[in-house]
Amino acid sequence: MSLPGRLICRATGEEYPLGTPIWRSESGGLLDLEFTPVFDPAFVAGRKPTLWRYREALPIPPEAAPITFQEGFTPLLELNLDGHPVWIKQDHLFPSGSYKDRGAAVMVSMIAHLGIRRVVEDSSGNAGCAVAAYCARAGIQCDIYVPASTSAGKLLQMEAYGAAVHRIQGNREDTAAAALIAAEDAYYASHSWNPFFFQGTKTFAYEVVEQSGWRAPDIVVLPAGNGTLLLGSYIGFRELHACGLIDRVPRLIAVQASACAPIYRAFLAGDAVVSPVDPGVTIAEGIAIAAPVRGAQILESVRATGGSVVAVTDTEVADAARMMGSRGFFLESTAAATIAGLRRWLPQASPHETVVSVFSGHGLKAPRMLRESR
Ligand SMILES: *Cc1c(COP(=O)(O)O)cnc(C)c1O
Repeated sequence: MSLPGRLICRATGEEYPLGTPIWRSESGGLLDLEFTPVFDPAFVAGRKPTLWRYREALPIPPEAAPITFQEGFTPLLELNLDGHPVWIKQDHLFPSGSYKDRGAAVMVSMIAHLGIRRVVEDSSGNAGCAVAAYCARAGIQCDIYVPASTSAGKLLQMEAYGAAVHRIQGNREDTAAAALIAAEDAYYASHSWNPFFFQGTKTFAYEVVEQSGWRAPDIVVLPAGNGTLLLGSYIGFRELHACGLIDRVPRLIAVQASACAPIYRAFLAGDAVVSPVDPGVTIAEGIAIAAPVRGAQILESVRATGGSVVAVTDTEVADAARMMGSRGFFLESTAAATIAGLRRWLPQASPHETVVSVFSGHGLKAPRMLRESR
């Protein structure tokens, strides 16, 4: 059975059925996925606390067996941050230790359903870990391209899942180029290109809304490198708004590392596209993306919600990591960057606004990074 829905090239408007095994259009453009979920909160009551409770909202054919570890529905915890109440999704508690499992679960489920047996991915770490874990679960062969500087823990984790790890000299962009070449004869399970990944990360919005009593928060503060959580959340909130379940889409605040902040720059300049920057070094390795492929889309989403972009320094990131550690939360530095951005942004929030953010990755992923920052 094929689901109603389409893959659409953002550049040319070319259309493909949902089940077409492609990750970009024939003209090389980014694909968006058009799918109108039939969704009713009554469906989910009584289901297991996993992201698959929103099955009808996911563009995976009903007969496809999900590739799952029963992940998702992470705790939404209230914290007091610098005197402001905030709600934090604990996405560092996913099976592979980061929110990337949301995207990998849905994307690899579709890949397995399509009968694809071998995939390529490139990552600064966590996306590779997530894709490798779900490919292991599905019995799919997986080649991951990483920058040679990737944290040792993440490399060991990918290898433990049985992935073939290729360390590429140079920066994150050189790694992406190597993966693109390898993708010529394998399916590219890219978290930044593949539209199914964003259908997984959109469950962040569904969970936040359900856990808030089917209400939307006012502000959502999220990391932005390639924007996989941010763009997914935007899709999710918009769908819930279109279904009439929430009365507005929250303002999205994107957090970048100031050493590598192309989206921040473009936002301030009022540009519609993101020009690549010369990447500086930062302990927030997971968001240090100099040329985000969906940059224009990230800008559009932030602006459409009346949101904003903030950039944080490594000193602020290290402070946020230490502060959360002292309160019992062990975060990797990339995840601490979002909390640093949240702290930067909070003084502007009015007291009656509900603010949601995320712990995006576990501290055990890259503990050395935090030590080096002291
Ligand atoms: C991937 C990742 C991010 C940022 O995600 P983007 O898709 O690049 O915006 C933030 N935190 C952690 C821990 C990550 O793994």
